[in-house]
Amino acid sequence: MISSPSKIYLSQSSLANNLDFIRQQLGDEVLLSSVVKGNAYGHGIAQFVPMAEQCGIRHFSVFCADEAHQVKEVSSEKSDIMIMGDIANEDLSWAIENGIEFFVFEFDRLIEAADIAKSLGVKAKVHIEVETGLNRTGFDKHSLTELAEVLIKKAEHLSLEGICTHLAGAESIANHVRIKKQLSVFNQTVKWLKKKDIHPKKKHTACSAAAMTYPKTRMDMVRIGILQYGFWPGPETFIHFLGKQKAENKQDPLKRVIKWKSTVMSTKSIARGEFIGYGNSYLAHQDMRVATVPVGYSHGYSRVLSNQGRALINNTRVGVIGLVNMNMMMLDVTEVDVSKGDEVILIGGDNGLEISVASFGELSNQLNYELLTRLPYRIPRIITK
Ligand SMILES: *Cc1c(COP(=O)(O)O)cnc(C)c1O
Repeated sequence: MISSPSKIYLSQSSLANNLDFIRQQLGDEVLLSSVVKGNAYGHGIAQFVPMAEQCGIRHFSVFCADEAHQVKEVSSEKSDIMIMGDIANEDLSWAIENGIEFFVFEFDRLIEAADIAKSLGVKAKVHIEVETGLNRTGFDKHSLTELAEVLIKKAEHLSLEGICTHLAGAESIANHVRIKKQLSVFNQTVKWLKKKDIHPKKKHTACSAAAMTYPKTRMDMVRIGILQYGFWPGPETFIHFLGKQKAENKQDPLKRVIKWKSTVMSTKSIARGEFIGYGNSYLAHQDMRVATVPVGYSHGYSRVLSNQGRALINNTRVGVIGLVNMNMMMLDVTEVDVSKGDEVILIGGDNGLEISVASFGELSNQLNYELLTRLPYRIPRIITK
């Protein structure tokens, strides 16, 4: 086996901890759908889905048909799979035959799905997505009459698994009014359809931030992504949560599932006054020791972290110096005893010290979401206790 420059480790016990916490927040009545789009937020669908199934998860949400296919390949529990976004009409028969659930948000897909289901002699499992104010996808109020007609006409070929919407930024208090409006539009739509005798099985609107901050959004099912991986959707959601806890419980209940590690490739002494790396972005202000790590922006380590990122070596936090290259970065190890082959932690922690993606996020104005999902497919993923 040829080894790779870095490896990702996934902690089964951290995932169990996070899912327990989320379930405890939700209570027993709300179904938890595990969102694994974006290659399970960079964790790896192939590894993450069986890990989640081991914790009792039986419903997964993905963005597109291709991801649904990946989940199906690795699911050993015949879990339900729901596509929230893209599926080409050509792939609808595959989805319907395999009992994959999917959002419908326009007539083309809805009618095509019903017709394919009819020809296959099965029902298409659909979730009706309602436009409530995100203005991205969903049936808006002007199309409701026609929607009801189609649903009634094609009822024989459709299994209405759910009715849903997506909220426009529940992680920020600035969107409070907009979200309240969205909920009200959603509830009115559900009521309107009920009068037409259309009764989708599950109502669902909440992502991680909404489920934590607005309990009314939980309804029958929540679509939880970022929280299960041990990250907060943003600082406001975390602060809101802490605010509701008793003094003795004011701590982060989540544990990072991911740890991203590499090793020191080489070390070098640099004289004061020299520039380090390309161009003149870093000037050695003293005699320095530098460690080179074989991870760069092609491996998902953002260039924005040039001169800003942090890593852990031998239990010490060290800084990235100079520009992040395509395949390498340099760390300032002047104060640390480091040699070739020593372990470098790029995300995650040991012994209480931790490199969080969120701290990068603040530094680089990027969200956890983006940094995680940029982790390439080809980095090996290893499941640990
Ligand atoms: C990504 C996504 C979610 C999950 O969002 P998190 O903030 O990661 O919990 C839920 N619903 C939809 C429609 C999504 O696209």
